[in-house]
Amino acid sequence: MGTYTHAISREAVELDSDCFVCDDPAIATYENGICTVSCANDHLLFRWQVPPTAAATATLPEIVDVAELLARQGMERTLNGYCPECYHAIESAVITESVETPVFRAQCETCGARLVCPAGYALLVDSRVVALYQRHGHDLHEYYLWDLPFIQEKERYRLVEERSACLEIDVSVASETLSVVLDETGHVVNYSLHEK
Ligand SMILES: [Zn+2]
Ligand SMILES: [Zn+2]
Repeated sequence: MGTYTHAISREAVELDSDCFVCDDPAIATYENGICTVSCANDHLLFRWQVPPTAAATATLPEIVDVAELLARQGMERTLNGYCPECYHAIESAVITESVETPVFRAQCETCGARLVCPAGYALLVDSRVVALYQRHGHDLHEYYLWDLPFIQEKERYRLVEERSACLEIDVSVASETLSVVLDETGHVVNYSLHEK
């Protein structure tokens, strides 16, 4: 059974999204339990594990939807201290040194699950960020998460050094900008709202 389900894969499909590095179309694939979105020039836009059971009867765009759901849930569980895979305690960190864009990283000592993504993923499950989009008539989860400016644009990341704070990320919708400050573990420690 395991062998059979692990063999599930899908023909690559172009999505209604462009690579934020080179503007080529974003292409989704699903292989060996991993959903990957990248472009023809191999710029990686998004990658998340999707269990074969969830992919068995799904189209590739549906698999991408599930992958994004699992990414959001994975972030929520990790930020609450639970490994998304085995539910043991997990610790997270924001890495700002020797990386081009700050990353959120967590590794489970119990099952080995590893989560590495742009630090902006920590804001996907933040109620004030969701509310900012809502206030302007947008549903945050309608967008492909790699398309969100606060995830892809490194100009929106600012390193800060105050007590435990290490990174500030600007989330802009219409005339409003919400600056969100994360601590070294990726938890939100401060907000400020500005009008343009
Ligand atoms: Zn590209
Ligand atoms: Zn685990």
